[in-house]
Amino acid sequence: MLKCTVCGMIINEKNYNLNNRGIPEENSLENIKYCPFCGVPIEYIGSMEDAVIEVDGHNLNDDTKKILDHAMKLEIFNSEFYDAAALLVDNMEIKKMFLHLAKIEMVHARIHQKMGGFNQLPKLTKLDYKKYKGEGGDKDLLRLARKREIHAVEYYDKYSKSVEDENIVKIFKALSEVENDHVEMEEEAL
Ligand SMILES: [Zn+2]
Repeated sequence: MLKCTVCGMIINEKNYNLNNRGIPEENSLENIKYCPFCGVPIEYIGSMEDAVIEVDGHNLNDDTKKILDHAMKLEIFNSEFYDAAALLVDNMEIKKMFLHLAKIEMVHARIHQKMGGFNQLPKLTKLDYKKYKGEGGDKDLLRLARKREIHAVEYYDKYSKSVEDENIVKIFKALSEVENDHVEMEEEAL
């Protein structure tokens, strides 16, 4: 069994392939390359004895809490976008990718919730994305997804420079890599 040092989940023979369409290369039981829950690459996956990167939410200053609160909302927003977009696309491969990405982004939201010591995930206003699918069909939604992922990468890169807690910086760097993988997967599908 393996343990993800970013999301803390235990990876085993039952779950290694859970979100295989949401990672750059599919995991097989013999070759696990990405965390099936949060999508980080193998460098962040350790053995059961390895420590998870943890943050004490009670000792954070208000600015840091605000940054984590915003990051949590950004991830929920993106996760809900993927769930909604999955219902709008025609291509089954893109649909599967969106559904798996929705799961991965929700795990990111929970990582921020835990780091910030927030009691619950906030409920956001649901948006209707129908109007974003025009002449370009599925590709319109892929382009929108890509844009949102780029925004997430920029968010993590910007704030990893201003937060002081080094474990938050580590997590932001890891998640920035994951969102960058999503950008590349979406570019490939375009
Ligand atoms: Zn993970």
